[in-house]
Amino acid sequence: MDDIAKLISGFRDFRRENFTTNRSRFQDLVSRGQSPRIMVIACSDSRVDPAIVTGAELGDLFVVRNVANLVPPCQGDSHHHGTSTALEYAVRILGVAHIIVFGHARCGGIHALMESGEKPATTESTDFMESWMEIARSAQDEVLRTMPDAGLEEQATACEKLGVKTSLKNLMTFPWIASPVAARELHLHGWYFDLVEGVLYALDTENGEFRPAEDLFPLV
Ligand SMILES: [Zn+2]
Repeated sequence: MDDIAKLISGFRDFRRENFTTNRSRFQDLVSRGQSPRIMVIACSDSRVDPAIVTGAELGDLFVVRNVANLVPPCQGDSHHHGTSTALEYAVRILGVAHIIVFGHARCGGIHALMESGEKPATTESTDFMESWMEIARSAQDEVLRTMPDAGLEEQATACEKLGVKTSLKNLMTFPWIASPVAARELHLHGWYFDLVEGVLYALDTENGEFRPAEDLFPLV
């Protein structure tokens, strides 16, 4: 089937099975506007769609996806900051209660960063990738310092998890995030989706370790 025709067919199924049967819910979302409780920062990787992985429905998640699910530090300048703009909208306009940094295994961006060693994140010159991946440079440094003899896969896995922690730290550089977090009105979460084993991990802030999310957030 043609690439695009497959999507149109999928939409037809969605309209029949989801939109039509939940018509009142969708009308409510339109008339009252969106009020998602959760923002997710996920990777653009086609295999890690956070809504599909968590079974979320339309209206549940405010999502920004970028290469390697990175949050840059707060920088007030005239450049076009897509991720920071999404954060500002989610926190200051929508008033979300949770922000989840949604990392994942086999991340191409992180893999390229680890492969590059001390050099910029890509071997060939790129217009944007190198400076974007600089956000995760401190995570890479820590991996190279603490596990210099590990194989590339092991280093990349460690860097993917440390990258989530770096993004969580960077979230706190935005004053309109740090303030509600301190007031316990906004909650930050670090998640890691292992798409090889099919396990969703969550960062345990008590000890800085990633544990299966089902252990950390038992179902009631
Ligand atoms: Zn990725």
